[in-house]
Amino acid sequence: MPRVIVLATGGTIAGRADPRSAHGYNAGCTSGAQLVASVPGLDRLAELSVEQIANVASQDMSEAIWLALAVRIRRIIECGQADGVVITHGTDTLEETAFFLHNVLPAGTPVVLTGAMRPGDAPDADGPANLRAAVQVAASPLSRRRGVLVVMHGAIHDPRQVVKIHTTAAPAFASPGGGPLGIVNPADDPAAIRYFAPDPAECAAPFALSPIIVPLSRVAIVYAHAGMDAACISYAARDGARGIVLAGLGNGNAPQTVLTALVRAVRQSVIVVRATRVPAGRVDRNVEVDDDSNGFVAAGALTPQKARVLLQLLIANGITAPDAVQQAFNAGRAPCDSG
Ligand code: GLU
Repeated sequence: MPRVIVLATGGTIAGRADPRSAHGYNAGCTSGAQLVASVPGLDRLAELSVEQIANVASQDMSEAIWLALAVRIRRIIECGQADGVVITHGTDTLEETAFFLHNVLPAGTPVVLTGAMRPGDAPDADGPANLRAAVQVAASPLSRRRGVLVVMHGAIHDPRQVVKIHTTAAPAFASPGGGPLGIVNPADDPAAIRYFAPDPAECAAPFALSPIIVPLSRVAIVYAHAGMDAACISYAARDGARGIVLAGLGNGNAPQTVLTALVRAVRQSVIVVRATRVPAGRVDRNVEVDDDSNGFVAAGALTPQKARVLLQLLIANGITAPDAVQQAFNAGRAPCDSG
C-alpha cells in the first residue's frame, strides 16, 4: 500500500455553505482529518495520514505557510516518510503555492495540490472527487519524478502552466499553454491515470530554502490598461519594491510614459519583468519593447502572479543580474542544480 500524507491548509474544500447568500460559503471550516474521513474508499487507495498546516481561505495564504509546507515536505522526502504528498488548498492562490513549491522542492516525490469550487456540504460538492483523484495521483508510481502537480476536475496540471480561469465553475482550472499533463479517472478505471508525456528526468530543487527567505522581498505587480499613467510605478519604487512585474498589454507592453518610468526604476536597481494580462501566450524578449537597452526581463510563459514568485525567489538567492534572471524565466525556474 503506498503511503500518502495529506497536508491540509483550508479553502473551500474544507468549507461549509453560508446561509446568508445563494452561492456563499465560508472557506476553511472543516479539518483535514474530517475531510479525509468524509471521502468513502480513500483508505483503499493509500495508507493515509493527515496533518493540519493551516486552515485559511487561500486569499490569506502567506509566505509563512509556504515555508511551513516546504520545510515539512522536505522532511517527508528526506526521511522517506511517504510515497506522495497531497495538499488541500483554496483555489484562489493554489497556482501560486504550487509554483512556489515547484521551485523549492526536489522532483522525485509527487506533491499534488487540490481544492474544490463547492463547499463540502453542497449537493454537488467537487472536493471528494478531487481529493480522491489527488490521492490516486500522489500514490501512483507513474507520478514519480514529476514533482509538484495540480489535480482538479480530472486533469493533472503543470504548476508552471496552470491558472484559475473561472470564478465559480467546477472546471475552474486550465493550462492554456500546452494543456494538462495528464488525466485521472475514477480509481476503478483500468487506465485511471494517463500522462501524455514520458517520464521527465529527475531534477533537484534549484533553490536552497532556508528561513532567511521569509519574508521574501517586496515585488509589485502593476496592471497595465489604456490610459494608464506612471503613478503606480513611481509608488512601487518609492515603497521599497525590489522588483516590478508588469501585467502588460499584449506582448508585455505599456504606454510610453509607463515604459519610461520602468527604465527609471531599473536605474534605481529595481528588477523589471514584463509579463502580460492576456490569458494565453508568451512574452518574449525584444518584441515591441527593447529589453536589451531598457534592462528589462521578459516573463516567457509565466503569468504575472507566477513571475512575481519566481522573481522573489531569485532575489532571495542573490540572483539579480538581468541576464541571470532572464535565464531563470526562460526555464520557468532556475536551472536545475544536478547536486
Ligand atoms: N477564496 C477562498 C479560497 O481561495 C475560496 C475559494 C476556493 O477555495 O475555491 O480559499
